[in-house]
This record gives sequence, C-alpha cells and structure tokens, in this order.
Amino acid sequence: MYRVKKRIEISAAHKLILDYDSKCNDLHGHNWIIYVYLQSEELDSNGMVYDFTQIKDEIISSLDHKCLNDVLDCNPTAENIAKWICDKIGEKCYKVTVQESEGNIAEYEK
Ligand SMILES: [Zn+2]
Repeated sequence: MYRVKKRIEISAAHKLILDYDSKCNDLHGHNWIIYVYLQSEELDSNGMVYDFTQIKDEIISSLDHKCLNDVLDCNPTAENIAKWICDKIGEKCYKVTVQESEGNIAEYEK
C-alpha cells in the first residue's frame, strides 16, 4: 500500500448554526490547516498515488477565501468540512484533518 499526505492552508469564513449561544454563531474567519491522506494499492502511470498539486488545486479552488456556509450544504463545522473534503477528493482519500485554530482539530476517517 502506498500512502501520501498533503498539507494545505486556506483562509475562509463560516458561521455555525448551533442550538446554544456561542460566538461561533457570528460570521468569522480562520486560517484553516488541512491534511489530506490518500492511499492506493497501485501507483498511476506517473508513479503517483495522486498528484499533490491536483489535491491543492481542488481544495483551494473550492474553499479558499470563500464563505463555507455557501459551499457546504450542511453546518460548516470542522468535522463536516473534513468529511466534505474526503468525499470531494474521492476513493483514494481515506482521512482528512481540519485545524480551525491552534489546538482545535477535527478528523474524519472512512
Ligand atoms: Zn469558526
């Protein structure tokens, strides 16, 4: 099994819809640090699991400098963002971590 990990940093805004009072209910931004984990039994014809630049381009074009409430069709928590990214990258992606601030990290694993 081959595995690769890609780190991507984006700036994006969100506001959360919570059933309790929180400052997170107001629109605010983070510099998100995302790790995308991919694996494959076989390498492609270029000798790669997945092109690092392609991963970055897919995430940046979808999420960077966006309001995540407009992109995701669910509450854009770090947990939901991690799953959304994993689904978007597709079959080879088996785990995504999303750090919204120092010490606050969500992980989604298939
Ligand atoms: Zn936030």
